[in-house]
Amino acid sequence: MIPDWAAERRSMVDAQLIRRGIRDKRVLDAMREIPREEFLPIEARVTAYSDAPIGIGFGQTISQPYMTALMAECLELSGEERVLEVGSGCGYAAAVLGRLAHEVITVEIVPELAELARSNLRRTGHGANVQVVDGDGGWGYASGAPYDAISVAAAAPDVPAALLEQLNDPGYLAIPVGTREDQELRILRKRWGRIQSRIATLCRFVPLRGGEGWR
Ligand code: SAH
Repeated sequence: MIPDWAAERRSMVDAQLIRRGIRDKRVLDAMREIPREEFLPIEARVTAYSDAPIGIGFGQTISQPYMTALMAECLELSGEERVLEVGSGCGYAAAVLGRLAHEVITVEIVPELAELARSNLRRTGHGANVQVVDGDGGWGYASGAPYDAISVAAAAPDVPAALLEQLNDPGYLAIPVGTREDQELRILRKRWGRIQSRIATLCRFVPLRGGEGWR
């Protein structure tokens, strides 16, 4: 039997997002619309709306739906923004961000995953305003800067300086920072030349690779 994906999406939004305090209507609508199952390997699709990260190959995961929604909400997108994502993975979060902002550039360090993200975005019709770039996103992507919002989908030992430089003023940066095992999701806000930081939640992401990751 083919699952009723739209119904699964609706109950995920109610049980996992609204119940835990996600309020932004645009974020909730995007998560009700974007077919998360289409971004997963065929054999993982039945678990598409479970309350957990899921393997997508190459030792990487698609984030838990709540984490994708929380990060998107913390960026306070209105639809006009240019957004940088670090860590495209399967492209799902990029599709969500693309639905919430004007334009998204997403950088992926594993070439096979960059290609997977590109084909998933194209196939689902969410690729029109999302550009997938191969590279080490720990250095940001200078040729597209500045960005009104930056979302980092892998954990870092510290906030990479290049990302703060490439963040517009005003702008928001969401990034998991901590040890390889445990992190806090930090929301940095640049405004009037100053940086404010708060912690949105505790979390566990896959480690950032490349020059700004752990040795
Ligand atoms: N947003 C993704 C989640 C991907 S998990 C989704 O919705 O599926 C984190 C991703 O970050 C992995 O694909 C990993 O390969 C990638 N990554 C890790 N370090 C990176 C780096 N320095 N630059 C770009 N991508 C990186």
